Amino acid sequence: MSDNEPVRKPSMMTVDEALSCLLVRAELVSGLETVETIAALGRVLAEPQCSQLNVPPLDNSSMDGYAVRVADMNAAGPTRLPISQRIPAGRVGEALSHGTAARIFTGAPIPPGADAVVMQEECAADGDSVVIGRAPKVGENIRRAGEDIRTGAQILAAGTRIGPGAMGLAASVGIARLPVYRKLRVATFHTGDEIVMPGQPLAPGQIYNSNRYMLTGLLQAIGCEIIELGNVPDNLDETVRALSQAAAQADLVVTSGGVSVGEEDHVKAAVEQVGRLDLWRIAMKPGKPLAFGSAQGTPFIGLPGNPVSAFVTFCLFVRPFILRRQGVLEIAPMSFDARADFAWPKAGARREFLRARLQQGEDGTVGASLFPHQGSGVLTSVAWGNGLVDIPAGATVQPGGMVRFIPFSELIG
Ligand code: AMP
Ligand code: MG
Repeated sequence: MSDNEPVRKPSMMTVDEALSCLLVRAELVSGLETVETIAALGRVLAEPQCSQLNVPPLDNSSMDGYAVRVADMNAAGPTRLPISQRIPAGRVGEALSHGTAARIFTGAPIPPGADAVVMQEECAADGDSVVIGRAPKVGENIRRAGEDIRTGAQILAAGTRIGPGAMGLAASVGIARLPVYRKLRVATFHTGDEIVMPGQPLAPGQIYNSNRYMLTGLLQAIGCEIIELGNVPDNLDETVRALSQAAAQADLVVTSGGVSVGEEDHVKAAVEQVGRLDLWRIAMKPGKPLAFGSAQGTPFIGLPGNPVSAFVTFCLFVRPFILRRQGVLEIAPMSFDARADFAWPKAGARREFLRARLQQGEDGTVGASLFPHQGSGVLTSVAWGNGLVDIPAGATVQPGGMVRFIPFSELIG
């Protein structure tokens, strides 16, 4: 496809149309399991979680200091009070006797009757009594029971991808185990007579299978269980065999290479033999047609062989498809406007996703730079970049203008 083609042929889909077509076919994975909260990182919550208790459970001190009754304090100037008790964290004190102060530590429950805590830096201990520098306000340095979470409140929604914060939050209300969706089983193989595995010598005409490593990383980062079927030569029978084996074991089959319409590309024919296949021509660059269909009833996605095209199409289409199937609610990557520290003088016919890096210049401001080689085989651009610049069809960019930046943190994992 050349850049001189019209912006959008009638048969071409936009990126958004292709994504919607995929997402309506994204069936939720069947089956739940229960995991220990400590081992729940990256899993997707299958049921909402509510708190059975108040957090914090009791009014408690946010400071090391002295718990007092504000009514016992001199309005102007310091007040000397006898110290009637000592309350470290983990103990419950007695009701505060009138006209006394309780030595108290951070996290310790406020004794009944006390209504403020004065931090120790504003007090001078003097034997059995303490001189308190000033009268506090009622409630000062007290964390109220239920201030963070009230009994019965929902703390996590179903469809949440469990991160470190959610793990801590569940633990803070005593939840030791969480119901999560089963991991999606994704079978992959890679086509091409030319590809060999790292660790093997490279004969003339051969290249290393980089897609397998990249795809493994992308799938691991979104918590899939991977069934790796390895390299498959450019041969119809072998492709059909690999495909059948993959489809029989997995919730999804993802392959790389062999989906062009050349005579060495057998994936299309193989999928049609055991299922059905659509080749979607998407108005974007990089990315050849995205192959989507099913093999023996199992959804199938065929990525282009060119590593950068495979990477970008995975991030934009396969990732949201997998996340949706895993029950994740929020799947759209966040993007933002960033200053272009580059020129893009020649408008392209298709929407382009350029490998870029958001970085701080010598003047301290942040802007997006482009990798100088944007070829669809140049994997260096992906390793160097920290995001994609999304340029609409027909647009040009002047240095200093604004461009849409999608960080890799929103596309990977
Ligand atoms: P294909 O989509 O099979 O026509 O491949 C397109 C280009 O990507 C060719 O230059 C292939 O050599 C290359 N390619 C295909 N599969 C891989 C792979 N697994 N790793 C690296 N490059 C690949
Ligand atoms: Mg090939």
